[in-house]
Amino acid sequence: MGLKPVKVGICGLGTVGGGTYNVLKRNEKEITRRAGRVIRVEQIGARRENPNCDTNGVQITDDIFAVAKNPEVDIVVELIGGYDIARELVLTAIEHGKHVVTANKALIAEHGNEIFEAAQRKNVMVAFEASVAGGIPIIKAIREGLSANKINWLAGIINGTGNFILSEMRDKGRAFGDVLKEAQELGYAEADPTFDVEGIDAAHKLTILASLAYGVPLQFSKAYTEGISAITADDVRYAEELGYRIKHLGISRRTEKGIELRVHPTLIPEKRLLANVDGVMNAVLVDADAVGSTLYYGAGAGGEPTASAIIADLVDVVRTMTADRDNRVPHLAFHPSHLSDLPILSMDEVKTAYYLRMDAVDHPGVLAEVTNILSQQAISIDSIIQKGTCEDLVPVIILTHEIEEKRMNEAIKQIESLQNISGEVTRIRVEQLDAN
Ligand code: NAP
Repeated sequence: MGLKPVKVGICGLGTVGGGTYNVLKRNEKEITRRAGRVIRVEQIGARRENPNCDTNGVQITDDIFAVAKNPEVDIVVELIGGYDIARELVLTAIEHGKHVVTANKALIAEHGNEIFEAAQRKNVMVAFEASVAGGIPIIKAIREGLSANKINWLAGIINGTGNFILSEMRDKGRAFGDVLKEAQELGYAEADPTFDVEGIDAAHKLTILASLAYGVPLQFSKAYTEGISAITADDVRYAEELGYRIKHLGISRRTEKGIELRVHPTLIPEKRLLANVDGVMNAVLVDADAVGSTLYYGAGAGGEPTASAIIADLVDVVRTMTADRDNRVPHLAFHPSHLSDLPILSMDEVKTAYYLRMDAVDHPGVLAEVTNILSQQAISIDSIIQKGTCEDLVPVIILTHEIEEKRMNEAIKQIESLQNISGEVTRIRVEQLDAN
C-alpha cells in the first residue's frame, strides 16, 4: 500500500488496552487491507506491563500526556477509564490536533458535549463505538445504518454484570447478594459494584444511545436510574408465573412531550428475544418507523470484543481523516447545528405499566381497599394474584395497565398507609416492547 502508516498512541494498557494491542498485531494484514494503510502502534502510555500482551519494540512511557502531545502520533486511544484525568487527556490530545478513539462511556456521557465541541473546533474526530455494549456495533448501526428512520424507542440490556445477576437469580432461585458475591469472585463485578448494580453505567450508555437516536445533546444528569438490589427471588418467581422475566433495562422513548431516559428493573414478556438474553451478554432493541424493530446482540465487555469496536473506530478514522469536516459522520449522528431541544421528561411524566407486590393481612376486604385506591387514581388492573400461605401475611401481586408514574406513586403512598398492608409496596415497571 502506498500511503504511509497511521501512528497510534494507546493510553492505558489494561483489559481493553491489552486486547486492542493484541488484535491490532494479530490481524494486522486484514486491518491494513480494510483501512488502506498500516495502523501502527507508535507509543503506549502505561504505568505497568500487561502480562497478557507482548509489546516488545514499542516505546512505553508512564506519562500518558506525553502520548497525547507526541508529534509523531496521529490518533490517541484513551483506555484509562474514569472522568477527570481522561477528560484532560482527551482535551489535550484534541488540542494537539490528534483524533481520539475511546471506550469510556462515563467520559462521553458526562463530558461529550464539551469534547465534541473542542474536536469540531480543531477539525478532528472523536470515535466512541466501544463505549456502549462493548463489541456490538450499536453506535454505527444507529448513527449510520438507521439514518433513514425516525427512531421511536430503544431498550437495551447494556450492563453484563446486572444481567448475569438477574439470570442467576432466575435460573437457580438464588438471592441477589449471594450472586453478586460470586460475580465479584468471577471478575464480572467490581469490588465496588455500585456503578453496575445501581444502573449508573447503563445510564451512561443509554444517554449516549438516546443522543444518537434522536439528535439531542448528551444529558446524563437527567437520566432516571434505579438499581436491581431490591429485587428478590420471590419477585423473579412471581414474574415468571405471570409470563414475564425481570431485566435491568435502559429504555429511551420519544414522545410528543419529550424523551424518556430511564434505567430500571423491568418485567418483559418471556417470549421477547430480549427476555432471553442471559448471563453477561448485551442486547439492544431499536424500534424505528421504516425498518421496524431491529435487535443487536453480542458480547458487551471483555478485552478482545471491546478491541473489536476500538479498531473499527480506528479504521473509520483512518478512512476519513483526510476528508473535510463537513463530509465526516457527525459525532452525535445529526449535524451539530441541527440538534433538537426536545426536553428529557421527568420520571413523573413517564407512562408505563406496573407490577406491584405487597404483604397483606389475611383479612376479608383488604383487596377491596387496595383496588379502591388504584381505581381512585384511574389505574386499571390487568391481573391480581393472592398467594395462599400459612402465615398471617399473604403476598398480593398486581399487574396494572399503563398509567403516569406520578399517579402510581400517589396510589402506592396510600396503599402503604393502609393498616392491613405491612411494610413497603414493591413496584417494578412492566413493558411490552412490541412495535406499534
Ligand atoms: P483497566 O483494565 O483497569 O485498565 C485501565 C488501565 O489504565 C490500567 O492498566 C491503569 O493502570 C491505566 N491507567 C489509569 N490511569 C492511568 C494513568 N494516569 N497513567 C497511566 N496509566 C493509567 O480498565 P479496562 O477494563 O481496560 O477499561 C478501560 C476503559 O474501557 C474504561 O473506560 C472502561 O469503561 C471501558 N470499557 C471496558 C470494557 C471491559 O470489558 N473491560 C468494555 C467496554 C468499555 P494501573 O493498573 O496502573 O492503574
